[in-house]
Amino acid sequence: MNVIETHRLTRRYWRTEAVHDLSLAVPAGSVFALLGPNGAGKTTLIKVLVDLLRPTAGEARIFGVDSRRLRPADRAKIGYVSENQQLPLWMTVRQFLDYCRPFYPTWDRALEAKLLAQFELPAERKLQNLSRGMLMKAALLSSLAYRPKLLLLDEPFSGLDPLVRDEFVRGILEISELGDWTVFVSSHDIEEVERLCDWIGVLDSGRLEFAQSTETLHGRFRRIEVALDGSEARLDAPPAAWLELAREGSRVRFIDSQYDRATTEQACRERFPEAAVTAHPMTLREIFIALARSARRAQKGAAA
Ligand code: ATP
Repeated sequence: MNVIETHRLTRRYWRTEAVHDLSLAVPAGSVFALLGPNGAGKTTLIKVLVDLLRPTAGEARIFGVDSRRLRPADRAKIGYVSENQQLPLWMTVRQFLDYCRPFYPTWDRALEAKLLAQFELPAERKLQNLSRGMLMKAALLSSLAYRPKLLLLDEPFSGLDPLVRDEFVRGILEISELGDWTVFVSSHDIEEVERLCDWIGVLDSGRLEFAQSTETLHGRFRRIEVALDGSEARLDAPPAAWLELAREGSRVRFIDSQYDRATTEQACRERFPEAAVTAHPMTLREIFIALARSARRAQKGAAA
């Protein structure tokens, strides 16, 4: 089952098309990272999901319900934390939590107390006197304590120092082990989310470049090294899945984006008949960079 689905979703601001014809499915139970550079359309998409913005065309569905028709009971199952969230800054942390609690029948006081201690939040301090990291943690706490089925995080890590970011990630990871829930987190930096996510979607200029599970990505990508040692090599017309093919002295290197041991070895034998071929697994970050480079090259090629 998919917790989020968009079908040919478009959202325009006058002439700017922030989200273009986007069809996306986020499986229940996943931690889905939506990656994209500044201005890619991440905030716009998340705002459409929570009905802060209406689609220009197409639709978004949360728990199978059109985002424009979410009822209070559906909303009570959604947590939303954004980098520019408006919070009642005149309240202390305790007053803020007292204020939020009655809105949510599922509010868990024990979890609230656990997170308050874990995030080391000073309960009697006013929100306006909290650091940025603390403020984000207070916002996260107020969205976790009612055990939402879906947690939407819009660039929650930007501006946080690495230590606070780590605590924040650990908080989310710990909670995600407590129950069946889905997290949708946007970021412009793979490093921020790679420990968290098991699905990745890449958005660029309002378009979804791809969306795949990290397991599939790890399986699909290998850095291939070919030791020629004097044997011949044919580098023309490589398979389309081979990225960044280059020869450096007696070695040929490339990234296979559709790795399958038998197929890759066969394709290598055809081009490098006597060479030794080794395949190395890649980190998510390396895969992400390779994909971003290849998308940029494709864009340049289309523009040329
Ligand atoms: P960032 O990482 O910088 O937060 P983003 O991926 O969240 O960016 P959006 O904020 O959704 O991207 O913006 C997508 C596009 O829509 C950008 O070109 C932006 O300038 C434009 N845009 C966003 N909000 C508005 C608005 N209220 N009016 C006009 N254009 C807007």
